[in-house]
Amino acid sequence: MKIAFIGLGTMGAPMAQCLKQSGLDVAGWDVTPTARARVDFCADDLGTALEGADAIVTMLPAGSDVEAVLTPRLLSELPEGRLLIDCSTIDVETTRRLAELAEEHKHLMLDAPVSGGAEGAGKGALSFMVGGITDAFKRAKPLLDVMGTKVTHFGPSGTGQAAKACHNMICGITALGVCEAFALADGLGLDADKFFTLCQGAAAQSWILENRCPVPGPAPDAPSSHGYAPGFAARLMAKDLGLAQAAAQACGQETPFGAQAAERFAAFAAGKEGDLDFSAIYRTILSR
Ligand code: NAD
Repeated sequence: MKIAFIGLGTMGAPMAQCLKQSGLDVAGWDVTPTARARVDFCADDLGTALEGADAIVTMLPAGSDVEAVLTPRLLSELPEGRLLIDCSTIDVETTRRLAELAEEHKHLMLDAPVSGGAEGAGKGALSFMVGGITDAFKRAKPLLDVMGTKVTHFGPSGTGQAAKACHNMICGITALGVCEAFALADGLGLDADKFFTLCQGAAAQSWILENRCPVPGPAPDAPSSHGYAPGFAARLMAKDLGLAQAAAQACGQETPFGAQAAERFAAFAAGKEGDLDFSAIYRTILSR
């Protein structure tokens, strides 16, 4: 199977590497030269990457980027029966529209957003949340198993993105809780290392605490210990929390904590530090 992998950023590059290292024929493409330099199997342009591809994986920032790649013209020009797997986190509406368009051109399309961060992507240990028809899921499953350890098929097109919106709302709310608790611990004069170790082994433990400890030092591999280099950029966290709010409004469910997290990350990401890891919001919370 030949795979075209479009979007070689923080997540896409290690995911494409996993596919390549498993022995598959992979051609990558990204609009940014620095991203293209992350892999040694990059094509000269999008068209060359797509040539002869059985499956096309997209890992792009937003719905508008996925639409810019999967244009109606491109879908009509591809040979029928291509498998399109969009791993980006985007809105349900765009996902469903693109899946319908793909179907009109006799392709199969899945939404398959992920969780696990760059560390999970590098180890082939991501969690996939998948939406789309069962035939497409069965065809994609062997590829998803190379990049991930947990693959959940939620149902028809859009349900993978719906699960991801709910999942990331938990992450955003948790991140603010962790930041505020560490700021309070600082205010009360607690040692950050000791407080981190306590939380790790107690009821306050979470993936966010363990991998995105907002204070530099206690977690040596966390972005905070490396100048807050992402990781998961604050602008992407703000985007995802916005997607969760749009989904909440669409189905009439009130999510006040989610709304506040969306507001706070949107304000932070609008400033100069939107490209830093989301845990950098800690510095705006620390008031002493
Ligand atoms: P990123 O910004 O690091 O990478 C995105 C890449 O897409 C960039 O290299 C950019 O140049 C490229 N790109 C944009 N438009 C393009 C186009 N038209 N054609 C080709 N390439 C294009 O982002 P990321 O952190 O890798 O995240 C990608 C997606 O995965 C986002 O939707 C994000 O929300 C989601 N996600 C990220 C993480 C994380 O921890 N970083 C975790 C889970 C999900």
